[in-house]
Amino acid sequence: MKQISFLPTFGNWKKAARRALREGISPNEIAWEEIGEDRPGLHLFEEAEPETTAKAAPEFRVPKRFLALAKLVALHRQPTRWPLLYRLLWRLTHGESHLLEISIDPDVAMEELWRTYYANIFNPARVKVRAMQAEMPKKYWRNLPEATLIPSLLHEAPQRVESMMKKSAAKIAVQDGDEWRPAPAPKTSSLTTLREAAAHCTACPLYKNATQTVFGEGRKGAALMLLGEQPGDQEDLTGKPFIGPAGQLLNRALEEAGIDRDAVYVTNTVKHFKWEPRGKRRIHQKPSSRDIAACRPWLEAELRVVRPDVLVCLGSTASQAIFGSSFRVTKERGKVLESELTPRVVTTVHPSSLLRQPDEESRRREYALFVADLGVALRAAEEK
Ligand code: SF4
Repeated sequence: MKQISFLPTFGNWKKAARRALREGISPNEIAWEEIGEDRPGLHLFEEAEPETTAKAAPEFRVPKRFLALAKLVALHRQPTRWPLLYRLLWRLTHGESHLLEISIDPDVAMEELWRTYYANIFNPARVKVRAMQAEMPKKYWRNLPEATLIPSLLHEAPQRVESMMKKSAAKIAVQDGDEWRPAPAPKTSSLTTLREAAAHCTACPLYKNATQTVFGEGRKGAALMLLGEQPGDQEDLTGKPFIGPAGQLLNRALEEAGIDRDAVYVTNTVKHFKWEPRGKRRIHQKPSSRDIAACRPWLEAELRVVRPDVLVCLGSTASQAIFGSSFRVTKERGKVLESELTPRVVTTVHPSSLLRQPDEESRRREYALFVADLGVALRAAEEK
């Protein structure tokens, strides 16, 4: 039995799965083990055979639909998703290329995982049926695993929105009597312990209106730590930092700067989504200095445990949390600075600001500057 121990991200699973496939290891011969960031020393293959014994690498092709689905299933929290995905991958590349069409196959029932995930993240307040149909014409809906859910989710949406609005109005009203105190970050060298403790944090009122704490993600000892402002709507629903539109842009920029997203630690200055209702939408609200101060012990603990070579502050909230409220990102961006919290810091804009640029030309210009700032951070880490 081969044990594959890995940090549970889609990228890491893909690398490990590709290698296992190349080596001809069948699904029954693999035990997939999720590890925390506290065990960075473990390799993907603990008992890996020397490269020379690997079988000749054949070409593998899988349907695009599988890759898209696998990415989404990877966001689910069940550990069984990894062996399921590998079993599907194995079968798709070993003579069953039409497997996904066989809906009664027990392995294809893994789409059930995706349906559960979709139902959980479906936000009735954000439904735009026309936009959904424009992006994906209805005739293709039958190919989507979540298609069977859409009619009932749409049907229930107005009722769910009404109850969400009632609930949030009630919660916002109680905030008047709330207090802010420093978050109770435990003294530990374990990121897993920190994450578990942060999941129950009630040190400021932001937890009341949010779905869950969105703690940082990545491994201990990562060369770069990226610090944003706070989770957004998608991050709040999935519990993962930087997965919404700004996160996708960040991924692209990291890749262009030569930085592997899976090798960096990403987190936010404030760990709960702060928002206010506007119509059916949850509108982002800038965290206050009280919110930032209350949440600071989590950031300090992350810095203490991860010990990045360079901290990259994305936007003014993150930068001012490190350097104080008089700090101006526009003046200082792209420079390697020193701070009391961590020896080297590079500041730049938040990727969401790139999405708000008024025209194509300024979008390109700002994006290029952003990639250049990330490059400065990478070089500073490499020079260490
Ligand atoms: S925002 Fe930070 S301090 Fe406030 S409840 Fe969430 S984790 Fe705790």
